[in-house]
Amino acid sequence: MSSALLEVKQLSRIFAAGSEEVIALDNIDLTIEAGEFVAIVGASGSGKSTLMNILGCLDQPSKGSYIMAGRETSDLTKDELAELRREHFGFIFQRYHLMPDLGAIGNVEIPAVYSGAPKGQRRSRAIAILERLGLGDRMDHRPNQLSGGQQQRVSIARALMNGGEIILADEPTGALDSKSGENVLDILKELHAAGHTIIIVTHDMDVAGHADRIIEIKDGAILADQRKPDRPVSTTAKLTQQPASAGWLSGFMRRLMEALPMALRSMIAHRTRTALTMLGIIVGIAAVVAVVGLGEGGQRMVLNEINGLGASTISIFPGKDWGDENAAKIKSLVIADAEALSSQPYVDSVTPSVSATGKAQFGNVSVDATINGVGDNYFRVVQRKIVQGSFFDARSQAMGLQQVVIDDNTKQALFKNVANPVGQVIVVAQVPVVVIGVAAKTTGGMGEDKRLQIYMPYTSLFTRISGAGSLSEITLRVSDNVDTQAAEKAIVALLERRHGTKDFFIFNSDQMRKTIENTTKILSLLMSSIAAIALVVGGIGVMNIMLVSVTERTKEIGLRMAVGARQIDIMLQFLIEASAVTVTGAIIGVGLALAIGAVFAPIGSSFPMIVSVNAIMVACITAVIVGLTFGFLPARKAARLNPIDALARD
Ligand code: ADP
Ligand code: MG
Repeated sequence: MSSALLEVKQLSRIFAAGSEEVIALDNIDLTIEAGEFVAIVGASGSGKSTLMNILGCLDQPSKGSYIMAGRETSDLTKDELAELRREHFGFIFQRYHLMPDLGAIGNVEIPAVYSGAPKGQRRSRAIAILERLGLGDRMDHRPNQLSGGQQQRVSIARALMNGGEIILADEPTGALDSKSGENVLDILKELHAAGHTIIIVTHDMDVAGHADRIIEIKDGAILADQRKPDRPVSTTAKLTQQPASAGWLSGFMRRLMEALPMALRSMIAHRTRTALTMLGIIVGIAAVVAVVGLGEGGQRMVLNEINGLGASTISIFPGKDWGDENAAKIKSLVIADAEALSSQPYVDSVTPSVSATGKAQFGNVSVDATINGVGDNYFRVVQRKIVQGSFFDARSQAMGLQQVVIDDNTKQALFKNVANPVGQVIVVAQVPVVVIGVAAKTTGGMGEDKRLQIYMPYTSLFTRISGAGSLSEITLRVSDNVDTQAAEKAIVALLERRHGTKDFFIFNSDQMRKTIENTTKILSLLMSSIAAIALVVGGIGVMNIMLVSVTERTKEIGLRMAVGARQIDIMLQFLIEASAVTVTGAIIGVGLALAIGAVFAPIGSSFPMIVSVNAIMVACITAVIVGLTFGFLPARKAARLNPIDALARD
């Protein structure tokens, strides 16, 4: 291992400029010891900056080797190079390269942010350095509120933030008036006296005169290398070891906490652009939340209506279908069919139905009602409850007793002043009957059923009202665990055999339910995908703007890298910015959706928008995912920038 701090061996740097090659450095050998004060001089274009950038690990040689403190730099990864820059080098640029949005303290702190120093500690150190450099009264001034000399002192303070054992200054006085220039040189001399290694690039021999050693280069080659005899190399300087950085997770959390305010600052700095970018996300998220909410509301409404249809039943009607004009003439659906069906293994219960209309009378109240002649199994088949009294039994059916069960509508109509109609005698189609039960209201259904329903044994209806005849319907419930479609097939086969022809049709409510459910599902899927497309469009907008932002902030990225940001730091910064935009957009979008819901509610009361906490959570998580997904490309682009190219960009 060599004792030299910096050692350059047969180093060349060749740039490709279009189809031509520019040899910026041509086979250079050079060693610099710790504690030296070196000036690199030469005409413009001679390769000074190129050499400086390689010495500072901002750029890498095309040929040859550069060994820094015993480590061959060409073996190091980008992040290891970043670590060297962060922990050992301090850069001072001709154009200062300060961040315009940050005050003096904020600018000086940046290298310490990337080395993981705690906030309080790095702040007090930044203040101390700024005070030492005579900027005690300019702590929170932004670069555009500072003179050139002051800005350069801020950049010197930044170079010293992490120690700055090796200070690399590229034309540090080039943009300054002579007095400020002197001031900067005095500071550099003081730092040298304090043990820092100073390397300064200049085209000005007067400036170079302050150094102890002058290296002159011309056309990429070293022309002369002279030490001032009266000033020996200081040997006090040595590299200090920085504390190892914290664990991965705490490191990640820390970076997150650093990047968040940074992201917010940048969002505020570009208000209009941020707002426009957000618009896409706001619309997208609002659409998703509203659509999902409306879908949920709609689905619940449909499900309610389906439940209103009652239990899953299979109904058999005479005729070809609902509209069959000849249905009334078909008399083949009879009690015997119902009895045959009831003995099938797949049938849980069966009821025949005949219906007639007639007047129902109680006291002096008379109403029109539907009179249903049904079997004693009727309420088991349709799964409806009796709320008062009971339903008629097999004996009542067999004997054709004059008993009825009325529904709630009939009870309301006939028994306004009677709490319990059970036991009362009413007259139905001129036949006196006893009310033995009241059936529960049907729950909703397709609009509320206003018809009055009276149920009596079909035997009673046949014998006392209409005379025996065929049935208007057979309703049956399929046994549990039996597929309704298979049952339907068996029923068709059985009845066809009995009738010799298919003069009936079947309505399977279970099938209907499934169809409606599927339709609703497809509809909400469709709507969700439209909303998702809106989100993707929003995401593309974010990506677009982030790409522009990366291009616009190339210089900032270059500076961050120069002071030691790792690739992951840069990546995180842009990812977090993208996510901050999308999450803020999502929150506004959810608010918008809720507002839409509030407007919607009074208009379409039957179709409520249901925005669940889940939906909001999903929206926010989606926003983060969109931010990360569409922020990834720009972030990667930023992280992959070469620091030296990035810095050179104007
Ligand atoms: P100095 O700092 O001494 O003025 P530089 O080191 O900046 O000179 O440049 C040395 C030579 O290399 C110049 O001819 C310059 O045009 C060329 N050069 C520097 N950087 C690049 C680059 N990124 N691409 C192409 N040529 C470059
Ligand atoms: Mg230069």
